[in-house]
Amino acid sequence: MSENKQPVPVANEQEQLSVEESFQRADDALQERIASLRAQAEEEQKNAPEEAARAIAEKLEAAIAAARKATEKEKKAIAEAARKREADAKKAEVDAALAQKTEAAKAAAQSAIDAVGDDAKAEKKRVLGKMKEEIAAAKRDAAKEKRVIDLTTLSVFEQQKLAENAACVKSGDFTSFDDETERRKENREHELAAFADETSPADPDALLEVRHLKMYFPLKKSMSGKVLQALRAVDDVSFKLKAGETLGIVGESGCGKTTMGRAILKLYQPTGGQIFFEGADIARYKSSQMRPLRTKMQIIFQDPYSSLPPRSTVGGILAEPVRVHNIVPKAETKDYVLSVMEQCGLRDYYFERYPHEFSGGQRQRICIARALSVKPRLVVCDEPVSALDVSIQAQIINLLRRLQQEMGLTYVFISHDLSVVKHISDRIGVMYLGSMVEFGDKKSIFRNPMHPYTQALFSAIPNPNPDVKMERIVLSGDIPSPANPPRGCKFNTRCPKAKEICKHVAPAYREYEAGHFVACHCYPQGDE
Ligand code: SF4
Repeated sequence: MSENKQPVPVANEQEQLSVEESFQRADDALQERIASLRAQAEEEQKNAPEEAARAIAEKLEAAIAAARKATEKEKKAIAEAARKREADAKKAEVDAALAQKTEAAKAAAQSAIDAVGDDAKAEKKRVLGKMKEEIAAAKRDAAKEKRVIDLTTLSVFEQQKLAENAACVKSGDFTSFDDETERRKENREHELAAFADETSPADPDALLEVRHLKMYFPLKKSMSGKVLQALRAVDDVSFKLKAGETLGIVGESGCGKTTMGRAILKLYQPTGGQIFFEGADIARYKSSQMRPLRTKMQIIFQDPYSSLPPRSTVGGILAEPVRVHNIVPKAETKDYVLSVMEQCGLRDYYFERYPHEFSGGQRQRICIARALSVKPRLVVCDEPVSALDVSIQAQIINLLRRLQQEMGLTYVFISHDLSVVKHISDRIGVMYLGSMVEFGDKKSIFRNPMHPYTQALFSAIPNPNPDVKMERIVLSGDIPSPANPPRGCKFNTRCPKAKEICKHVAPAYREYEAGHFVACHCYPQGDE
């Protein structure tokens, strides 16, 4: 039996036909092919012995399956070509509009230059600069519009699959559910939501507003530099934080808390999303633009042992950022540093001492003093007490709270210790595998933890009352790899409440009480 080869329609010929007609032609060709294969097999089977006839029948089944697969592939290509034609036609309109805008900007600039004459060089420069900005903005808008066209123009094939998936969700039978189509749909929706939010202004009440923040680390690249596989450390995280508030971020090790804190401070360049600080989007700022903001955004690291330079005295460590950022006149540096040390509970004679002469708690006070010496507004506290004894932890937490009240500081407090977070936070964000699964104010989350992961974390908080029976929810298994997160809800592999839908469809991140957001299929998703 000859190898199956489907005739691939010529592009020009195919453009004349509608997608339905092309599909019909491919189906007709398949039926013909199957009929010819059957006839050929029957001919071969006529005088063949029983064993050979069975082998021919098996070969026939394999050839028919291959023919069906090839037809499916051909239909996919037809649908994709039609989708591309439709998208290209829409993009051509965008290009035409862009060309018009560019011409209009050039004409306006030319008439402005003609009006002022060639002698007014400064004015000419200003007009040309304005024209370039307008053209660049129009190009950016056009590029965005084209991306939206690509995301929203779906092939007939994709639409069919989506309709089938929707039917599966409705019926609860996921046997024919196409996970790949669902994954593409989720990615499209995330990108479109980020585009839609991009133009809305920052919340004037928020000191920090994070929208659709993504931090991916490439693991595998192609020869051309295209990222083939990435570790999604932070994946589409959004929240707002008002000045003077503390946001506690909780989650197991490896959930992306620290990476998110560092990406907010631009210690990593985020892969995507927006970070509004004092109303300005700093996500795309270069390091030179970030420099004046460095004093306003500080970090306290987890390990007070390794985060202090061993060869500098406490005075030297605290004076350096003050000098670099010109916080006070040079002659007043020492007095200023001594005042910061006093605020942080450090004696003045520590000024000449070295970090190794101090205990863990005192070193963390030095780290806090270093962060506060530049008068920041936002401080990311990255597990600041996890390396300390419990009694020292309380002192440091109380110190942080006192300093917050005195200096009006805003904290992003990262910790895996819920008792500590409960004590210090106004709002709480629960992260799992790079995503925010629950977010809300402290009272609301502790009164009513809605996400099964939050419930499991909260069940592990020790209760000092011996009469209260603890009902611990023990999660089985390890946190999956962020390089290869589970399909659907990322928590489905460990969730005690997981349902079939959780393995296929990611839950929507929705607001169920005022300011209380959750992503879980246990709650209405808004589309049923
Ligand atoms: S969506 Fe499903 S798997 Fe995810 S947390 Fe909710 S119940 Fe568990």
